[in-house]
Amino acid sequence: MMDVPLIIVGAGHAGGRAALTLREEGYSGRLILIGDEPHVPYERPPLSKGLLQGSQDLAGCSLCDSVRLAELGIEHIAGNAVSRLAPPQHRLQLADGRWLPYSGLLLATGGRARRLPQAQCNVLYLRTHDEALALREQLRPGTRLVVVGGGFIGLEVAATARGLGCAVTLLEAGPRLAGRVLPAIISDALLALHREQGVDVRLNVTVASIEADAVHLMDGQTLPCDLVVVGIGMQPNLELAAAAGLDVGQGIRVDAQLRTSAADIYAAGDVCEFRLGGLYQRQETWRNAEAQGRHAALNLLGRALPFEAVPGFWSDQYDWGLQTVGVMTPNVVSRALPEGGLLLFYLDDHGLLQGACGWAPGNRVARDIKLCERLIAARVPLSSAALADPAVSLKQWLRG
Ligand code: FAD
Ligand code: NAP
Repeated sequence: MMDVPLIIVGAGHAGGRAALTLREEGYSGRLILIGDEPHVPYERPPLSKGLLQGSQDLAGCSLCDSVRLAELGIEHIAGNAVSRLAPPQHRLQLADGRWLPYSGLLLATGGRARRLPQAQCNVLYLRTHDEALALREQLRPGTRLVVVGGGFIGLEVAATARGLGCAVTLLEAGPRLAGRVLPAIISDALLALHREQGVDVRLNVTVASIEADAVHLMDGQTLPCDLVVVGIGMQPNLELAAAAGLDVGQGIRVDAQLRTSAADIYAAGDVCEFRLGGLYQRQETWRNAEAQGRHAALNLLGRALPFEAVPGFWSDQYDWGLQTVGVMTPNVVSRALPEGGLLLFYLDDHGLLQGACGWAPGNRVARDIKLCERLIAARVPLSSAALADPAVSLKQWLRG
């Protein structure tokens, strides 16, 4: 009998993790991983940090190399997009015209950088390894860089570019930095740090047009520059699923098991829209790609497990680190850290920890955020006064 493969579309972080998990979990059938990029699956966080700075290379970001993929019997079709899905026939078509049947399918197609309509030329975006290399080439001492967007791409690129000696202006349309995902106190801290590091940060600005050597703002100002990087958000790659008639919203909609509206098709990673706290949402984070990639693989093997991971992400800018875990609530307690920075604790009405956010030099908050994750799981009521006191160890609540 013909061995009909499991197929993963999207050889990024979630897709790569799913393929590796399938083998770790003992799946020995045919397994195909299809990606439109020419590379083995890799993690994207270094693209705006170590790889952009020049201290890391593709091998250092990869989930595994091509030798390992071959050893594991994972057939990697690289540089070839899936152009069409036919769920009723359980098959898909590649851009080169070939049709492949599947016994189960995972869609892990991620997203692409949202384009700025006003940008005609001289603009770079950052989503892929190749885009990071193209940008790195141009970040030289003295380069006048304008960054459009004060989200994570914009902030991390600005920090790396300053480290490489560029003159950086950062334009944010909203009233504060990373305003949709971070609390105001952290946005303010980011603003102060970037200005201290010499970035000309401008809030509430609108770009009118971009030319080869200048950015024009709606208020009439002109910013002469050598290079423009745009980081104004991510657009999920859901067209393939939508055209195939799968249920989509802001992403590919899945049930509690990460199963799409077609019974043998799952979705994972940035493109996956799942219910968290009763609401459909997507998570655009390393942690989610890792957890959902692994989880979807288990469910492709028939485990039928509900996805219940705690969200979280980090960002590194200059020599400061940001980390979050869980969700934000209106009931927040702040703890100033002796070495600088702060921890924010988010409680529910019963004093149970729901989330935490830390911002401090180096990796200082990593240990506390790990403890917070354990406290979220432990569901022990916490005292706001003790949480605010830097002398009180978070461990004490876990000992009992
Ligand atoms: P992706 O990694 O985007 O992979 C999807 C893959 O599918 C891509 O290769 C895409 O080209 C391919 N594809 C799409 N359509 C098709 C098709 N039709 N056929 C074949 N292949 C297709 N998160 C953090 O938590 N912390 C960080 O510090 C951090 N830093 C980041 C820095 C950068 C520059 C970027 C871009 C992201 C960063 N993230 C960070 C977010 C994190 O990297 C993403 O959430 C994660 O990569 C999502 O993984 P994914 O597999 O869902 O999507
Ligand atoms: P993002 O985090 O969504 O931030 C985009 C920012 O650009 C927002 O502050 C947005 O403001 C602003 N903006 C939107 N339109 C604008 C315009 N026309 N002019 C000026 N500013 C504008 O997206 P991103 O920074 O581009 O990152 C893309 C993806 O990479 C995301 O998935 C992100 O999570 C991921 N990433 C993550 C990390 C990390 O977690 N450390 C690091 C890098 C990248 P409004 O919100 O007001 O619209």
